Amino acid sequence: MRLLTQIHAHILTRSPLLPLSFSLSKVLCFAAYRDIRYAATLLSHIPSPTVFAYNTVMRGFLSQAPSLPHPILLFRILVRNKLPPANTFTLASVLKCCSNLAAFQEGRQVHKHAVASGLAGNLFVGTSLLNFYAKCEAVDMGRKVFDEMPERNVVAWSAMIGGYARVGMANEALGMFREMQRRGVEPDEMTMASVISACAVIGALDLGKWLHTYVDKKGIKNDLEVSTALVNMYAKCGCIEKASHIFEALPEKDVKAWSSMIVGFAIHGLGHEALTTFAKMEAAKVEPDHVTLIGVLSACAHGGLVEEGRKYWSSMVEAGIKPSMEHYGCMVDLLCRADQVEEAYEFVNQMPVAPNPAIWRTLLVSCKRNKMLEKGKLIAEYLLQLEPLNAENYILISSMYASVSDWVKMSRVRMQMKERGVKAVPGCSSIEIDGYVHEFSMGDWSHPDATDIREVLREVAERVRGAGHEPWIASVLQNMSDAEKQDALWEHSERLAIAYGLLKTKAPVVIRVVKNLRVCIDCHEVTKTISKLYGREIVVRDRIRFHKFVDGACSCRDIW
Ligand code: ZN
Ligand code: ZN
Repeated sequence: MRLLTQIHAHILTRSPLLPLSFSLSKVLCFAAYRDIRYAATLLSHIPSPTVFAYNTVMRGFLSQAPSLPHPILLFRILVRNKLPPANTFTLASVLKCCSNLAAFQEGRQVHKHAVASGLAGNLFVGTSLLNFYAKCEAVDMGRKVFDEMPERNVVAWSAMIGGYARVGMANEALGMFREMQRRGVEPDEMTMASVISACAVIGALDLGKWLHTYVDKKGIKNDLEVSTALVNMYAKCGCIEKASHIFEALPEKDVKAWSSMIVGFAIHGLGHEALTTFAKMEAAKVEPDHVTLIGVLSACAHGGLVEEGRKYWSSMVEAGIKPSMEHYGCMVDLLCRADQVEEAYEFVNQMPVAPNPAIWRTLLVSCKRNKMLEKGKLIAEYLLQLEPLNAENYILISSMYASVSDWVKMSRVRMQMKERGVKAVPGCSSIEIDGYVHEFSMGDWSHPDATDIREVLREVAERVRGAGHEPWIASVLQNMSDAEKQDALWEHSERLAIAYGLLKTKAPVVIRVVKNLRVCIDCHEVTKTISKLYGREIVVRDRIRFHKFVDGACSCRDIW
């Protein structure tokens, strides 16, 4: 840089009135990759910079300071001055900046500009737009861009699959991957990482395994991104041993790889394994990020390691890391699981930011379990003020009253829910059979094998009842008779999925179910009983964690 400033000074003293000459553009190029502020200042002093000069500085910002909005600001100046006109490189750079910052409105403006200037059909601009919409989770708009592209390359594909995977539209991501194969487009590492991530979202283990083989067979470079996606997929699909195996074999591990493994152990309730991995990460001098710390704290929470959790919390605060809402949530969860409700309550009251509804719900569940009705009532009031339209709150509060047999208050809460027109999110569970994901929602009998499923469920219900199970009818909200409530419980989506698993597979195949909500207490009890009566291992991933049911017991030790 010192030499460069000397050369720059030399050019200025020798030919001060020259516009952006060849030599100055060279100075700009070098400065853009050494000292971006210097380059930006230089650009602002050039009387009429070329589009090349603008692009150079934009790219410099993207590579040196990707979190700064300067490329967007430069683009504004360019558009306002109308000269020089932006070219495809300019648009790609400013869109990249919009993606980095998830600057949705700004990106939309750039899109309009691209359409108006006739550059939207360019492959380079098109893929940049796709990446931008995928990053902003606007998959519908991304799809529109994709459909309108005159030609598409593997990058465009990959971007679209990545977008679908990011918003959890796994079936769409997989559908697009199949379309890509049909058209003979060879996937690259980025495509494979995205599509494997999609399998992680829906828990499609067989498909994930098939993709793993595909990567090996096709000689696709098994780079860090693909391997990390595999670690994450196996962990989220319930195969934690396999995930750990791939992870251990990685020649080098970045923060994303370490975090995936730690979070994987945490959701399986393997607290000690998660903490050992974290210690190894520290020894390897890899700086933990916000996701790693969520993994560490939730590992302590799910593993019942209260003292360790506190220790990590203090060292995190001492290291000057500003805790996020999720970190606070993990800590409250940790204390609540250990039934230290008073302390959790204190902790929440001392938070420097207002706690979110999820934190209040964690506290409420804990109050309910410990029969601390006074505090529970207080929290219930906060919750209904904060989120009057969330069905989960009403269900939780009414079940708190049900647990102390206060039927009057319970029905009042239900009435309130009805009056305000709050609808519960329907429970939905999926199970993968022969590479196809079958989805079931509560009381939905539209599946082609519905008659057989009913038959299996009837038999299971009889055997479970015979084993002495008392249905927890208080968890059913509808206004119906007790017999009807029992029937309603047997239509919960996870039971339909488990019944389908019993129908279509034989031991020792593990029945793996993914559910969008928390598992209700009655389904949890029933699944435990089924695992014993039928001698089947059943793994249920609910919204929070994994439950591994073996021989009448669950790995969560009945706290979830
Ligand atoms: Zn249930
Ligand atoms: Zn469990």
